[in-house]
Amino acid sequence: RAKALGKARSEVFEAKMHQKARNRLMVESELKLGLEDGQVIPYFQPLVDMKSGYIAGFEALARWRHPVHGILGPGYFIEIAEETGLINPLGLTMLEQACLAGRKWKALAQNKQGLLMSVNLSVRQFASPTLLEDIAEILAKTGYPPHLIKLEVTESGIMANAEASVKLLNSLANMGLKLSIDDFGTGYSSLSYLHRFPFDSLKVDQCFVGRMQEKEENKKIVQTIVGLAHDMAKEVIAEGIETKAQFEILRDMKCEYGQGFLFARPLPAKEAEDLLVQSPRW
Ligand code: C2E
Ligand code: MG
Ligand code: MG
Ligand code: MG
Repeated sequence: RAKALGKARSEVFEAKMHQKARNRLMVESELKLGLEDGQVIPYFQPLVDMKSGYIAGFEALARWRHPVHGILGPGYFIEIAEETGLINPLGLTMLEQACLAGRKWKALAQNKQGLLMSVNLSVRQFASPTLLEDIAEILAKTGYPPHLIKLEVTESGIMANAEASVKLLNSLANMGLKLSIDDFGTGYSSLSYLHRFPFDSLKVDQCFVGRMQEKEENKKIVQTIVGLAHDMAKEVIAEGIETKAQFEILRDMKCEYGQGFLFARPLPAKEAEDLLVQSPRW
């Protein structure tokens, strides 16, 4: 009986796997067409200068405007894009659209330097032999100044491929781009390695920010990351700020930038532009 049950279970499992594989294929082919059709667009979430309370820039976060299912978040397609190589055109179109938005909104920037546009770069893109040329081409085409573009690479991604990452990140830094280590604190960096990466800022993962008040330990982790970054003369961005209290704690810690639902959710381009026009101050 146990055996029969086991067999039934494995059949259910197999059916599920088939279903999953089919979904995956469907998403892959639809995503490929969607990318060609311009369905993958950035939503923009403000990066707030903690000291002045003004908008310093935006992080571009991918959304798939699916013709049937509506707006889909990255949880639905980034992993598949990474596994199939579609992350290459996806990452590039995100960069291009972010540069174009930054250029369009230039006159609305609250600080004179212009808007800092942050774009996520997957380490899977490092495998593309044309990555550097492709990025250079977008910079040339859009004319957006590289020092106002920040590429966010996750700590876990960098660590999974440290040698290749050091090389690529150095090339990107040499192009004048700013670099940020995303989701910092979750990827088990060896601190001796950190010195080898030419990054400009660390992004404290939202899991620590979210539970700062719940657990003193998390507050200490954030404090330690901020101290570490400042000792290395790097800036800190705290993500996932949802409450005024979190904002104040992080501001007192001298965190340079903040991002989170307290300020705004990721917004469609038009709404992000409207927000800039309002010129809010937190
Ligand atoms: P991430 O780069 O760490 O982006 C921050 C995520 O936290 C975003 O989720 C954002 O909506 C969410 N978030 C921001 N503030 C808050 C807050 O106060 N509370 C909470 N609970 N969440 C907050 P999103 O847009 O779903 O993106 C998830 C992840 O998908 C990103 O994490 C990034 O790793 C990846 N991703 C998004 N767009 C791209 C892209 O264009 N390329 C690549 N390679 N990855 C992307
Ligand atoms: Mg990011
Ligand atoms: Mg992050
Ligand atoms: Mg994240």
